[in-house]
Amino acid sequence: MTSEALILNGKLLAARIEADLKTRVERVVKAAGRVPVLATIIVGENPASVTYVNMKGRACARIGLASRKVALPETITTEALIEEIRKLNADPDVCGILLQHPVPRHIDEAACFNAIAIEKDVDGVNAASFGAVSLGEKGFAAATPSGIIRILKEYGVPLAGKEAVVIGRSRILGRPVAMLLLRENATVTIAHSRTVDLPEIVRRADIVVACVGKPEFVKADWIKDGAVLIDAGYNPGNVGDIDLKNAAAKSSAYTPVPGGVGPMTICMLMEQTVEAAEANARA
Ligand code: NAP
Repeated sequence: MTSEALILNGKLLAARIEADLKTRVERVVKAAGRVPVLATIIVGENPASVTYVNMKGRACARIGLASRKVALPETITTEALIEEIRKLNADPDVCGILLQHPVPRHIDEAACFNAIAIEKDVDGVNAASFGAVSLGEKGFAAATPSGIIRILKEYGVPLAGKEAVVIGRSRILGRPVAMLLLRENATVTIAHSRTVDLPEIVRRADIVVACVGKPEFVKADWIKDGAVLIDAGYNPGNVGDIDLKNAAAKSSAYTPVPGGVGPMTICMLMEQTVEAAEANARA
């Protein structure tokens, strides 16, 4: 391919979407007579989690949503955490609930995710949300996968009939993005740590989605000429999961790191919270 690969600019797109969300929030506030709240539960004081929670709080402020941080001690039990989630489920001001990942090891994270009311599960972490999204029914998809599909669609990347290879199968990223690509009629392969001969599988992909969590794991010589590269990886030093320095020139389009998938995640979280708030205002 040429070196003129299209940069799929998530930062620019996210800014455009946010501007529109601001107007939608103003309308909801007018209709409902109160400011919708996005509640974020954080357990313990993991510095990266604190940074993420603060970023989400700032994003809420930019578009006019209220944010509520529910800080819980590291020692909390699964039962007590589920009780906190139930309180937020029952709070009419709260339109969206996030449980910041990761939680301490002794907590049953899946049980806590599944305790979030489906209509407030704006990060799509609930098994019921995943099921609904997988089946093409109403429910919120996980934010990063939503952002990936959105960026592909906004840039007009054809998906139907294309060979998509997703590397990674996590609950929040690999699995849901594969389901969303299937909904768009791509032919989807999901690779993981037990996959045999990954380079050969990636070589047939028109669309490669890397969500492995290993810096520059996907090599340029695995990439078919003209493939579209989505790099969801975010490793120390602003490095993604694809060796973009060498692979980008073989691609027809790619998401840069940073400035590709990352900004779309918070933006989709905001958009899904606004959707939940609109539904709440109508109810
Ligand atoms: P994760 O839960 O650790 O999952 C990693 C996946 O990669 C697993 O499914 C694993 O397979 C697979 N894998 C590991 N080694 C492999 C190998 N050698 N070959 C093929 N597959 C392999 O990670 P995650 O939460 O999905 O995150 C992945 C990356 O995305 C990280 O860099 C993270 O920072 C980034 N991320 C970015 C955003 C964003 O907003 N931009 C959001 C979330 C995550 P097994 O299932 O077999 O173990």
